[in-house]
Amino acid sequence: MKVIDSKLISMKSILHEAKQKQYAVGQMNINGLQWVKAILLAAKEERSPIILAASDRLIDYLGGFHTIVGMVEGLMRDLEISVPVSLHLDHGMTVSRCKAAIDAGFSSVMIDGSSYPLSQNIAMTKEVVHYASKRGVSVEAEVGSVGGMEDGLIGNIIYADPYECVRLVRETGIDALAAALGSVHGPYQGEPRLGFDEMKQIAELTDVPLVLHGGSGIPVDQIQRAISLGHAKINVNTECLEAWNQAVRAQLTKNKATNDPQTILTPGTEAIKQVVKMKIQQFGSSQRV
Ligand code: 13P
Repeated sequence: MKVIDSKLISMKSILHEAKQKQYAVGQMNINGLQWVKAILLAAKEERSPIILAASDRLIDYLGGFHTIVGMVEGLMRDLEISVPVSLHLDHGMTVSRCKAAIDAGFSSVMIDGSSYPLSQNIAMTKEVVHYASKRGVSVEAEVGSVGGMEDGLIGNIIYADPYECVRLVRETGIDALAAALGSVHGPYQGEPRLGFDEMKQIAELTDVPLVLHGGSGIPVDQIQRAISLGHAKINVNTECLEAWNQAVRAQLTKNKATNDPQTILTPGTEAIKQVVKMKIQQFGSSQRV
């Protein structure tokens, strides 16, 4: 068996290179072992860096921080994954949750203080950056509000204020900024309308890699415009969920007699893999490794 260095790495170098070369790296949310397998294999086949993310609200469901790290590192070894991989905490709710993820071996965290006043958001983010940077872990923070379901709550879209973004970036030293500009988590009602004028302004003022949450369902031309305006990371969950759901339901309908999990669930894994490969191609991160 080939020996592969299956160490998780921070997002810092991955995003720096993506921003410089004008492509984006996908953050694919995980919902179980089959998701990790599908996403890692897609990244391997596409020779693309990849960011695996566990949403804070799903940590217990997935078994806990240590289980997630063990699962990802184990699969990286067994599947001989040599492309750069970050394991990221998505929407970390508190400073202590981010520290727990880091202590367990996550290589990146998001501290989401976006629902608090800016001064509190900055204070929380600063504390996480202080802890993370000493351990070689990258940090993402958010300004504004992504619409749809966020942290288990349904919220309205609140556009990020460019000057708040500048203060957050300057005062905390984060590695990536999620500036909410009209995207939503979950399915869109009608055509998405991203705030490209604000995006340009924020990209110029902050010069930090931007993160697009709610990356499912956004037309490719808008995705590519967002990349050209400084987005180096795009988060995708809903499109993988939809593809998995459709494939598993179809299999259950077609094959009513089986009660074998492998038979029922394998088409779901394959469907996730195909979505991830398509996203990697659209984001321009294919063949970069
Ligand atoms: P989607 O729900 O649009 O896939 O977004 C996922 C996301 O932004 C996770 O943080």
